[in-house]
Amino acid sequence: MHCPFCRSEDTKVIDSRTNDDGTQVRRRRQCVDCSRRFTTTENAMLLVIKRNGVVESFDRSKIINGVRKACQGRPVTEADLAVLAQRVEEALRLEGLAEIDAHDVGLAVLTPLRELDEVAYLRYASVYRSFDSLEDFEAEISLLRAGLVGDSAAAYAAEDFISVGDRDGSAS
Ligand SMILES: [Zn+2]
Repeated sequence: MHCPFCRSEDTKVIDSRTNDDGTQVRRRRQCVDCSRRFTTTENAMLLVIKRNGVVESFDRSKIINGVRKACQGRPVTEADLAVLAQRVEEALRLEGLAEIDAHDVGLAVLTPLRELDEVAYLRYASVYRSFDSLEDFEAEISLLRAGLVGDSAAAYAAEDFISVGDRDGSAS
């Protein structure tokens, strides 16, 4: 790795530490030629397996592009999208898997998007989870109103129990 200041290829590691959850190594380096210091990070490659079997490296910009359309006309900034993509990546890395199904990447988007903007969330969820009727929207909105959409496993379990028209959980 060359020096980012003078591009010398002669650098040495002066410190190396692993972050708390063991998913990243940071190295402090010093350039032998210009003596300036810089930091590098080392992560395991996070790979995404697409539905057609193609494997590609995780890319935050793809998350952002996927969500941006759902956020049209909503008070969501580019900075919000960048934070969302970062949260998705962190959630996926915490699972400790080297390869992740594209479907699970989509699932990981749902929670941070709901916290960011509920309308954008509904739009995204309607496409991602193939809502095909008003009832699907109504069921999802009931869950949002009841505060039941959160922990995705719980939400998916709850969905099976809440029928359309069940307004019991209208907490707000
Ligand atoms: Zn240098």
